[in-house]
Amino acid sequence: MQTLGRLAVLCLVFAPPVLSAPGAVRCGKLLDVRTGKLLADQTIVFDDRGSITSVGSNPTLPAGVTAIDLSGATCLPGLIDVHTHLTSDPSYNGYAGLGVSVPKEAITGAKNAARTLHAGFTTVRNVGAGNFTDVALRDGINEGGIPGPRMLVSGPAMGITGGHCDNNLLPFEFHYREDGVADGPWAARAKVRENIKYGADLIKVCASGGVLSKGDLPGAAQYTLEELVAIAEEAHKLGRKVAAHAHGTQSIKDAIRAGIDSIEHSSLIDDEGIALAKQHGTYLVFDIYNDDFILQEGAKAGMLPESIEKERNLGRYQRENFRHAFQSRAKIAYGTDSGVYPHGDNAKQFAKMVEWGMTPIDAIQAATINAADLLGWKDRVGVLEPDHYADIVAVTGDLLSDVKVLESPIFVMKGGQIVRQESGK
Ligand SMILES: [Zn+2]
Repeated sequence: MQTLGRLAVLCLVFAPPVLSAPGAVRCGKLLDVRTGKLLADQTIVFDDRGSITSVGSNPTLPAGVTAIDLSGATCLPGLIDVHTHLTSDPSYNGYAGLGVSVPKEAITGAKNAARTLHAGFTTVRNVGAGNFTDVALRDGINEGGIPGPRMLVSGPAMGITGGHCDNNLLPFEFHYREDGVADGPWAARAKVRENIKYGADLIKVCASGGVLSKGDLPGAAQYTLEELVAIAEEAHKLGRKVAAHAHGTQSIKDAIRAGIDSIEHSSLIDDEGIALAKQHGTYLVFDIYNDDFILQEGAKAGMLPESIEKERNLGRYQRENFRHAFQSRAKIAYGTDSGVYPHGDNAKQFAKMVEWGMTPIDAIQAATINAADLLGWKDRVGVLEPDHYADIVAVTGDLLSDVKVLESPIFVMKGGQIVRQESGK
């Protein structure tokens, strides 16, 4: 993304909020993400709540409305990233992260929310943030004071003592533990209740070890099946879905058997795991872009040498297993782990998914209809149809043959409000 383009957009992003009004967008082409067909000359009409009222080749426009002219571009629904960490930056990894205060984390979230929205991601699921900074960010965005995507947030990620979602950097005498640590089924249930009490829309749990944590093994199970069952049961009872971080083969299967809704990373999934995911309807999320960033930039960003070594061992398996799971027709949603790499580059994963076996429309479906289904928001985002938000991205070029055009949208709208409009287009 060009620096100048980013600056131009930031000006738009930080412009005073515009009062909602009905409007329309005329698209040279519109991608029907359900069928993969490009429809010619379509106009999207929306009301003063930013909700689509009609889509067609010659719809009646409300009085006084002139359609925004995107007749040289292709429109598609606002994109969805189901695995973000908006309140974190790559430089917060390793020991440098210990110096980040709660207010700094919140401010970081505001900065990254704007970047993410500007990149065409109008909805995100944020899976892990300290001190409920993600709840504050979501609420600030919903109140209209901060530009950013629609957010579903988890609050602190749950994990075992010493596991991936604990913080293991300091010696014993500091007695430091992360907010989401809970051991045993009843402590885990209590933590689910606490996260929901303070505003979580979903529960994030670390089932296996991870890459960017100290002293644990990505392939090793951390939560037991009994604990995962307790977490899933408690969350579902309280009307929340659960996302499980799981690289390891056993943890992936345990999480699926426990009834968890999505497996994050999914790196070492085997045939049985894929079959179980299909049987249970579990979504798989493979963050296959950020490997490149960790290997190339991780050391400079302060990531631990052991983390970079873990990534080197794991990345290739994850990409091969992504291809295998997709070819086996498992359900896949688009999640990138932004925050591990710089926010705003979320669309770079599309090309990676195509490189590893998807067609462009498969990858776009993962970031629209599939992601909306996983979020439980099929009724409001993921398609450009009546009664859904006017969340619109437009690109030039042929996105069904070159998915990289999604890395530089010329137009982004969220709920009927323009976020980004490149001049001269
Ligand atoms: Zn993550």
